[in-house]
Amino acid sequence: MDDSDDYTGVLEAVMKRVRSHIGEGRVADYIPELACVDPDEFGFSLATVNGDLYSVGDHARTRFSMQSITKVFTLALVMRGRSRSDVWQRVHREPSGNAFNSLHQLEFESGVPRNPMINPGALIVTDQLLSDTGDAVGALRELLCEETGDPDLHADNLVAESETRSGDRNRALAYLMASFGNMQNPVPEVLDHYFRQCSITVSCEELARAGLFLARRGKRSDGSELLSPSDARRILAVMLTCGTYDAAGEFAYRVGLPCKSGVGGGILAVVPGSCTVAAWGPGLDDKGNSVTAALALEAFTDVTGCSVF
Ligand code: GLU
Repeated sequence: MDDSDDYTGVLEAVMKRVRSHIGEGRVADYIPELACVDPDEFGFSLATVNGDLYSVGDHARTRFSMQSITKVFTLALVMRGRSRSDVWQRVHREPSGNAFNSLHQLEFESGVPRNPMINPGALIVTDQLLSDTGDAVGALRELLCEETGDPDLHADNLVAESETRSGDRNRALAYLMASFGNMQNPVPEVLDHYFRQCSITVSCEELARAGLFLARRGKRSDGSELLSPSDARRILAVMLTCGTYDAAGEFAYRVGLPCKSGVGGGILAVVPGSCTVAAWGPGLDDKGNSVTAALALEAFTDVTGCSVF
């Protein structure tokens, strides 16, 4: 699709599907600061590889906590310019079928997490990025600022502190992996970068723009290459199979696009070669995915037929 009239119809269809569900779901409260968000907010933005941007919903420009959506971007940064094998020796690429913060598989899989889209895998990626750059959250922020064109993107200190106070589960995951020798940096340092990374805020419009390098098969906004086309495709595969907690099968069925969600209520979806879609609604279902963002993405693929299947 490349005609703005067509996208106007798509956005109307999205709003029609979502409107009566706004406010549904439960705002994440295990990170207490996230519970302060108004559950009635909703935003939806679509960014094309040609540089067009379309939005609907009252809150497409409201910033929200990226949380796990950052996992896509840190993975891209550690895959950039390195042989694949050294990252993938520390984290696998299989769906976990367990909650995103589960300790269960780590114990009998020798401290190697199932995939980089769940917390233990993301902690490994942050640890790797810290080793590579000396400042994992700084490298992430720099990438996001450059791809959105907004130099002002930043971590939300209140959310980061709230998660630091309530983050014993992530502490347990990191120390368990360290006990197996799968941590390169001191655990408190890795956790500090991870908590600040998750607390970075973006709007739907910014998130859609930030993810475009995946739709452009690895090319950044300035035309340079962040990832090879093969690595961009591999990240999309990991998003499709592991990006929506233990509902990835359900998302493949309902939406049929590589997606990554976060407990802040955002979801980023990618239509390879064409566009990205970012949807946000703070109310989550029992798997941790935003109710309204999932409905919006489902409406988007129903109406446009844009799906990898
Ligand atoms: N910062 C959150 C945590 O570590 C991220 C969870 C998520 O969005 O999936 O629990």
